[in-house]
Amino acid sequence: MTSDVGEAEMLKAVFLPFPMTSHTINIVDTARLFAMHDVDVTIITTPGNAQIFQTSIDHHDSGHIRTHLVNFPQIPGLPKGFEILNSHTPPHLVPHIFKGLSLLQDPIQQLFATMKPDFIVSDMFFPWSANAAEESGIPHLIYLVGGYIAMSAHNSVEQFAPHTKVDSDSEPFLLPGLPHKLQMTRLQLPFHAREHNVLAHTMKAVHESIKKSYGSLVNSFSEIDGIYEEHYKTTTGTKSWGIGPASLWVSQDASDKDVRGCAIKEEREPGGWRSWLDSKTEDSVLYVCFGSMNKFSTSQLVEIAHALEEFGHDFIWVVGKFEEQSENEGENGFLKEFENRGYLIRGWAPQLLILEHPAIGGVVTHCGWNTTLESIIAGLPMATMPLFAEQFYNEKLLVDVLGIGVSVGVKKWKNWTEVGDEIVRREDIVKAIALLMGGGEEALEMRRRVRALSDAAKKTIQPGGSSHTKVKGLIDELKAFKLQKVYHKINGVA
Ligand code: UDP
Repeated sequence: MTSDVGEAEMLKAVFLPFPMTSHTINIVDTARLFAMHDVDVTIITTPGNAQIFQTSIDHHDSGHIRTHLVNFPQIPGLPKGFEILNSHTPPHLVPHIFKGLSLLQDPIQQLFATMKPDFIVSDMFFPWSANAAEESGIPHLIYLVGGYIAMSAHNSVEQFAPHTKVDSDSEPFLLPGLPHKLQMTRLQLPFHAREHNVLAHTMKAVHESIKKSYGSLVNSFSEIDGIYEEHYKTTTGTKSWGIGPASLWVSQDASDKDVRGCAIKEEREPGGWRSWLDSKTEDSVLYVCFGSMNKFSTSQLVEIAHALEEFGHDFIWVVGKFEEQSENEGENGFLKEFENRGYLIRGWAPQLLILEHPAIGGVVTHCGWNTTLESIIAGLPMATMPLFAEQFYNEKLLVDVLGIGVSVGVKKWKNWTEVGDEIVRREDIVKAIALLMGGGEEALEMRRRVRALSDAAKKTIQPGGSSHTKVKGLIDELKAFKLQKVYHKINGVA
């Protein structure tokens, strides 16, 4: 993909990932995608966050991408080494980490001024970066994590407050102004959409920063939510580019996929999964994973375990550190008994590799945006069990818009730091996975649809494909912007 581009012509970009595992994986894939297109990329982050992706960067052969480390500030009460947010972050340390992150603003702003990039791409959760870029006269692209449907749904709730017009938390309402009739309940909306809390304040700042930015980037592609891309651009009057799926552009070989999301070898699943899967027949195994942030109560884990047992087919379940959690809560090692009924992964799963194995036939997912895209790329239908963030909106895309998912029927949004008080019952999980993995017409239809979308994902990043065209168009636009700046400087135009 790389070609020879003269130094003067080469665009210089700075990428600023937010230290949540999936946010970082997502934006780093996109940073690598720009490096593949001859943009000289520097990722600014802290040493702890670099551990998520440094191996992937080292793997990159273009030489156009590097990491610039900024030390995480010392915060009273925050033990050294805690600087990222994921399922292992003790909830009481979360405010301290946010405090530390807020103190990174000055040093990073100084780096913008000294590095003088031609453009900055920053995670939406660093809304201050739009002002900082503006002060330095640098175009700023805000990286929106999630798909367009979630942004449009969020804006619909903000603008029309449909949840205030129903009588109870469980009464369904339509999200007004959207291209499809999508129904939600008040309980499924994020807390910050229902009440004024800290995150509501942050989201307000995010939306202000979108208006100040040159535009936004979204890891999505026209064939899955192009209607919402248009809707989002029209209703907000902002520029935006859906340039995904980024992982498909950049994670091309097995060794690359193996290290994605976790640069620490000891934390990664050792690899027995492959021979286990090799012994299974095509489309016969269910992959169960709830992302990098989630915590479940022991009762919920027990329900999932029993559902998988009752379902009676093969599965891979990424349980992560859940076992420790359940031991702490006193239900000693129920997962141990469960060990031989499927393949349990306790470390970091090489998700991209597992999903593309022919034996995998379906996914149980929390509808995290990355997993949503990755399952579509792999042509796998999903049983949807959303938990937090924008995942209930993503569920709508999978089940109601694209028809490639079966809802398990989660009723209540929870915060990612909490286990939540809703227990999704085993019978509801079994019903969804039995439909998903069964040979009925509905299941076959879903499988056909998701395979067509998988093909579309592969085409969209090829020359002439919509994401390919958008990436090229954006790079050309940024080059023209750079040339115009140089011209103005030479000619003394203000
Ligand atoms: N992931 C992985 N191995 C794991 C758990 C997660 O590779 O054991 C990756 C997964 O492929 C995806 C990301 O982590 O890219 C999770 O992102 P998603 O948006 O699906 O969920 P979140 O972590 O934000 O809840």
